[in-house]
Amino acid sequence: MFEVQNQPPPLEPYNLFASDAVLGDAVQREGAGWAKSELTALGATLGKPETIRLGFDANKFTPQLRTFDRYGHRLDEVEFHPAWHELLTIALAAGLHSSPWAEPKPGAHVARAAGTYMLGQVESGVYCPIAMTYGSVPTLRHAPAIASEWLPRIFSRDYDRNFRPVKQKTSALLGMGMTENQGGSDLRTNTTRAEPAGDGSFRLHGHKWFMSAPMCDAFLVLAQLPKGLSCFLMPRWTPDGERNAIQILRLKDKLGNRSNASSEVEFHGAFAQLIGEEGRGIPTIIEMGSHTRLDCCIGSSGLMRQAVAQAIHHARYRTAFQKKLIDQPLMTNVLADLALESEAATVLTMWLARAYDEDNEAAQVIRRVVTPAAKFWICKRTPFVTYEAMEVLGGSGYIEESIMPRLYREAPVNSIWEGSGNIMCLDVLRAIERTPNAVDVLRHELGGGKDARLKDATSTLEKRLAARDRNDESQARALVRDLIVALQGALLTRHAPTAVSDAFCASRLHAEAGSAFGMLPRGVDFRAIADRAAPRN
Ligand SMILES: Cc1cc2nc3c(=O)[nH]c(=O)nc-3n(C[C@H](O)[C@H](O)[C@H](O)COP(=O)(O)OP(=O)(O)OC[C@H]3O[C@@H](n4cnc5c(N)ncnc54)[C@H](O)[C@@H]3O)c2cc1C
Repeated sequence: MFEVQNQPPPLEPYNLFASDAVLGDAVQREGAGWAKSELTALGATLGKPETIRLGFDANKFTPQLRTFDRYGHRLDEVEFHPAWHELLTIALAAGLHSSPWAEPKPGAHVARAAGTYMLGQVESGVYCPIAMTYGSVPTLRHAPAIASEWLPRIFSRDYDRNFRPVKQKTSALLGMGMTENQGGSDLRTNTTRAEPAGDGSFRLHGHKWFMSAPMCDAFLVLAQLPKGLSCFLMPRWTPDGERNAIQILRLKDKLGNRSNASSEVEFHGAFAQLIGEEGRGIPTIIEMGSHTRLDCCIGSSGLMRQAVAQAIHHARYRTAFQKKLIDQPLMTNVLADLALESEAATVLTMWLARAYDEDNEAAQVIRRVVTPAAKFWICKRTPFVTYEAMEVLGGSGYIEESIMPRLYREAPVNSIWEGSGNIMCLDVLRAIERTPNAVDVLRHELGGGKDARLKDATSTLEKRLAARDRNDESQARALVRDLIVALQGALLTRHAPTAVSDAFCASRLHAEAGSAFGMLPRGVDFRAIADRAAPRN
């Protein structure tokens, strides 16, 4: 038997919060310093070997659809491995599905963002129902009577895995059904229709091409009424305690996100209640969308953080050509460049989360304009980061026993769902056009930096934002990228060590930026940047 040599120890146990300097600083800065002890405890729980194992198990033993029972009665149930339920138990106990609504206070959205950022690093599939439940609350509040019935269970931290009417449960999770076969981005093409039942409720007939986490207790769904597309709450059980007429046709065979079930469904007269005004379905459900888009930024930043942590950890232990990998100059450059991308995403995301805690004009503009912009750019960068980080581990990074293949498969999903890349960029154009003072607020946020490269980039961007052709759709991606990279530069210049902000401005604020990682110019303190991002166990 050969002796195993030159292999790093697994990165476990470790504390995902205490070992992440960038996250810790951001939490403090963005107003959630009070949550540090809770986040430290959650970071320790998530970094235990047994919790990390749950993520692997939930992805290996994937959800199974049970359409019928043995006698032919419809069940429409999805069975999950116990690991899935254990992860949800951890997530709910930490309040990641609803704490900012249940216990509102300054910094609450930031604290919750930090928690979900860590959860997604261990397992991203469970993040889906957590994100949708979090996002559903402002939309549900459009119907106060329905909200008062559901919110106490949505606010509960006691996860209840049972499939039964919500009144018999300790807690509730919510999903959403918007996308139909003939059109997902263009929601006006939805054909699902609602009929009044005569008692104030409605019956829904139609289908949804994607409805994730179908074992949620209820869904916010779009359906047509005479005045147009409207938003409904559709529970899995009717008020009479019968299974609602929601048929799960099949589960999607997905690239990643495999622990989570995503389904195709049909509604055959399913019980539902109107949320908000008839015909105002899109604006009503879009409030949910804004929060779930924030979650896409959080989830993708977390994926990048996990990939970079694993890569740096590996490079600190593995030797090649008589040196630790982290000490090989070209590898140090790659690691530093990856760490920059991760830090920029984290700092931007946590700053954005703060805008959800505040209600002034600047916060409103940031929520409306920067949320889709950040979703576009952060989610677009994640596949590149996870791929490059995988390569740091060499062949072992390609093997399923490491977390890297799972991170890589997960990486594209946040860019596709909840508004794909182009849709986000078009939304940014619309938001800038329609939000009063958007350009002034952005100018203020971008300003004040002393770095000459940043000043140049900002003044070019300001000219483009003021130009008459700023709504040219064909250039929307370039505009949004430049906006986000400039914002990241501004935030890092304000808050990160000089080595980090200097390297970011040197490598990201020019036209050729963004090809492969590891091309930082000479003079950058590669090692200082990589060491800052190193996880410790
Ligand atoms: C894992 C997963 C889970 C999901 N879960 C849910 C869920 O729970 N609930 C739900 O409702 N949906 C869900 N979705 C669906 C997802 O939100 C949609 O797939 C997405 O919104 C895109 O819609 P579409 O697939 O119909 O693509 P299309 O709308 O056909 O778009 C295809 C492409 O065209 C681009 N495009 C569209 N219009 C324009 C334009 N005007 N200009 C330029 N480009 C354009 C889009 O950006 C996209 O890249 C899920 C998807 C995935 C992959």
